[in-house]
Formats: sequence, C-alpha cells, structure tokens
Amino acid sequence: MPELPEVEVTRRGIAPHVEGRQVSGVVLRRSGLRWPFPQDLPSLLAGRVVRSTARRGKYLLLHFDHGTLIIHLGMSGHLRMLPPGLPPQKHDHFDLELPPQVMRFTDPRRFGAVLWHPNENGDIEGHLLLRGLGVEPLGRDDLALLLHRGTRNRSAAIKQVLLAGDIVVGVGNIYACESLFEAGIHPATAAKRISLARYEKLAVAIRRVLAAAIEQGGSSLRDFIGADGASGYFQQSYFVYDREGEPCRQCSSPVRRIVQGQRSTFYCVRCQR
Ligand SMILES: [Zn+2]
Repeated sequence: MPELPEVEVTRRGIAPHVEGRQVSGVVLRRSGLRWPFPQDLPSLLAGRVVRSTARRGKYLLLHFDHGTLIIHLGMSGHLRMLPPGLPPQKHDHFDLELPPQVMRFTDPRRFGAVLWHPNENGDIEGHLLLRGLGVEPLGRDDLALLLHRGTRNRSAAIKQVLLAGDIVVGVGNIYACESLFEAGIHPATAAKRISLARYEKLAVAIRRVLAAAIEQGGSSLRDFIGADGASGYFQQSYFVYDREGEPCRQCSSPVRRIVQGQRSTFYCVRCQR
C-alpha cells in the first residue's frame, strides 16, 4: 500500500512532467473508483494549465487557477507518465492528457480516488478529506511538542495514536513500527505516559525514517516514467517491520509481532521499553 514516502516520491516523479503543462483532454474509463469521478472533469480541465503540485498526507494535489485536482492512490494505485496513444490496460482508469505526455492512473483494487475541489469552495485545507489531518511530519511544526500536548488525555497505545493520523499524518504501519524501534519506545505504551523527552526522540526518528524512505524511493524515480515502468513502490530494509522471529539488528533478540487494532506490530522486547 502506498504510504507517505511513495506518494511524495510520486509527486516528485510527475512534477517536472505536469507543472506548467496544459491539459488537452481527460479520459474517464469508468464511473469512478472509491468515489464517483466528477463527470464534468473533461470540460473543467480542458485547456487549463497545471500550475503546481503538492501533497497533503497521502493526497496528491494538482493546483489549477480555478481549483485543485485531488488524487489518492488508495491501496494499489500508481501514476505514470506515458507517451500518447498507448492502448490502456485493464486497470488503467483515468488519463490526464498533458502533451507531449499522458499521466495515467492505474489502480487494480480501485480504492483510489480522483476528486475536484473548485476554488469557490474555499481553501483546499478545508476540504472534507483534508481538514481532519494532523501536521505534516516533515513540515516545520514542533512534532514532539504536538505529540506530547495532544496525548495528555489519551490512554491509547502510542502506535495507535500514530496510525490515527490526527496529530501527525503519514506515519503508517511500517513507519510507526520503525520509528518506535528507533526511539526505543514499546508500541503498546499508553501515549499519555510518554514524556516530552521521549517524544523528542520519537519525532527525530519519524522524520529520519520518512526522509530516508523518500530518499531511497527518489533513486528509483525513473520507474515512474515510461511505458514499461514498474509500480514505483520500493522495497526497503527494515529494523523490525515484517521481521518476526528474526534477530534484532541491534541486540539479536528475536523480533516479536503483536496485533494492535487488527494491524501487525513488530518490535524488540529488549530495545523498546
Ligand atoms: Zn533489540
């Protein structure tokens, strides 16, 4: 499933090919994915120029003068820049024609989304899907302070609080496991019992883990471009994630797996307290 780093790498991958380009056409090959496509997208976007790209959480934003195209990759979606005229494959649901290329959205499981937010509906940050999101982990906010302040009354496990995304976005299952390991915090610790000093460690770990993933994905950027491009997702080597029973890379104890909120959590009993 694409997490924040994949979405950011996707944004960086398409940005030079879409920014400043004029839309010559929009192709919708089905009525929608997770939600219906705006059926007037072809007339809304024809002749319009993509002014800039942005990302908020896992939402990709293509800004136009009159509004913003919101794209979510869902569980299995990916975007590629292709030469025009390539016949669509089974799971190619949406094309944005930006001569001399086509931006094609492929999504086998169809949990993705393409939505339109016109300027007259107000600031994009106020959009129903965006307004409840926590801060960007790689932004300028004091993440440690926000985590500490935001959890004084929360008995939920820290791992669950990270996944909830209402304090900080983009710390999905993999990155929550990895950053809690790096910070030495047991994933089941009640969030309200964690001190500011430990949240400072966690904030550093979250930033480092996400930045490293983006950097690693960035080295495979060319995968986003071209007819035979791979999905653009990248395999990384993890300290604990998906390593049940294997030796901790720090202390050699076997990595443990527990289930929290129906998601697997991987951690080291010795390194995380
Ligand atoms: Zn360990």
